[in-house]
Amino acid sequence: MSALLFRSTNGQSPAVNLREALLRGQAPDRGLYLPEKFPPLAPAEIAAFARLPYHEIAFRVLSKYTGSIIPSDALAAMCHSAYNFPVPLEIVNVRVFLMRLDQGPTASFKDFAAQMMARMFGRFLQEDGRQVTILTATSGDTGAAVAHAFHKIPGVRVIVLFPAAEVSESQRKLMTTLKDNVRTVAIDGKFDDCQAMVKQAFADPALKDIPLSSANSINIGRLLPQSVYYFYAASRVAQAGEPVFFSIPSGNFGDMMGAVVAREMGLPVKKIIASVNDNDAFPRFLASGTYRKIAPSRNSLSNAMNVGHPSNLARLVAVYGGQMDETGRLHRQPDLAAMRRDIFSTSISDARTVAGVREFWNNFQLLLEPHGSVAWQGFQDWTAVEPLGTSPAVLVETANPAKFPEEVEKVVGWAPDVPTNMLASLRLPEDYDRLDADYGKFREYLVQQHA
Ligand SMILES: *Cc1c(COP(=O)(O)O)cnc(C)c1O
Repeated sequence: MSALLFRSTNGQSPAVNLREALLRGQAPDRGLYLPEKFPPLAPAEIAAFARLPYHEIAFRVLSKYTGSIIPSDALAAMCHSAYNFPVPLEIVNVRVFLMRLDQGPTASFKDFAAQMMARMFGRFLQEDGRQVTILTATSGDTGAAVAHAFHKIPGVRVIVLFPAAEVSESQRKLMTTLKDNVRTVAIDGKFDDCQAMVKQAFADPALKDIPLSSANSINIGRLLPQSVYYFYAASRVAQAGEPVFFSIPSGNFGDMMGAVVAREMGLPVKKIIASVNDNDAFPRFLASGTYRKIAPSRNSLSNAMNVGHPSNLARLVAVYGGQMDETGRLHRQPDLAAMRRDIFSTSISDARTVAGVREFWNNFQLLLEPHGSVAWQGFQDWTAVEPLGTSPAVLVETANPAKFPEEVEKVVGWAPDVPTNMLASLRLPEDYDRLDADYGKFREYLVQQHA
């Protein structure tokens, strides 16, 4: 079997296999890697998922990409150890379900990708005797998930940048209480500043002696595992072949691209509802065909989605035959009609986000945090446009309500229980560095850390 190849969305770099795409993160032409062709899963293969546990579905989906690169038994073991926590699907209302992706070690959906990617990285680096520094910018949850996943993985040093004033206390503690190979840096700036500094470091010839890689949602190793839970959800809530609605709270659009990947591989998807907070560049683009990124990004309650220019849009545009570069410039329009047929997008204000948490609790006795509430409100907007019919719908809750205790308590009157896996981190001493949003200083810092 010849290995599947990944090409850059900018079209100027050679195609590479999964191992190279994963270790590089971003393509040399600053584009994002995407499979040349999505490997199909036959309807019978997908139907069989109904009887399989999560880790086995992960194995069957991911093995289509790892082919000759990771032996089957090794991949199966990686899936088994990475996905050793439950993935609850709670019934909201007849055929509407809430999928909680918050039972991993850092209580956000980012664990699904980070846990698998860290295992793949560890394996590839060990095979090559190589070392890398993983640079990652976080708007709150990525940093924690990545830091935990890569903690103590040999050959890896992790440096996490986060916007000092934009993450919650528990989000911060989940990343600043690790030691060993993990360093965290509070940037006096916004998430976009952090992301821009990371991108600049990758392109900086002065850093060519430091082997850098990325664990952001720009890494294809983050994206592929995020397709698995859509297969899983469908296998639990739908009949074989029955299409499903997915409502996904979106920031950098990695989560929703997981659903796009699943659909490209053959999962019947009725509609992807990609809801954003006040950072509404995507719904505006979908409606008008004109893309204008939002700079600076707007602060919202759903802080992990305060993204002015979602980097995964380059991938989404590519799937629909267009080309967008890393700055957000469109070199070729995607097929907008097809995009609108498959995707609905809407922007949810903070007021509606709060109202959604309250309403969901009052109506269904189920607790949401702000990101999940954005998904719920987006779903309401969609059903106002078009009735659901009989198709099942899955709302994606991306974080545990305990990560946003103040927001939740304000609405329902009590603070949510903290999951035991989070408690330990919250009690350990913090240790992190501080820097201005100044690339020159960050470069110095990197050189110093590498020495
Ligand atoms: C990262 C994150 C999101 C947004 O996911 P994207 O893949 O960036 O769109 C939503 N909710 C939570 C809790 C997150 O951590």
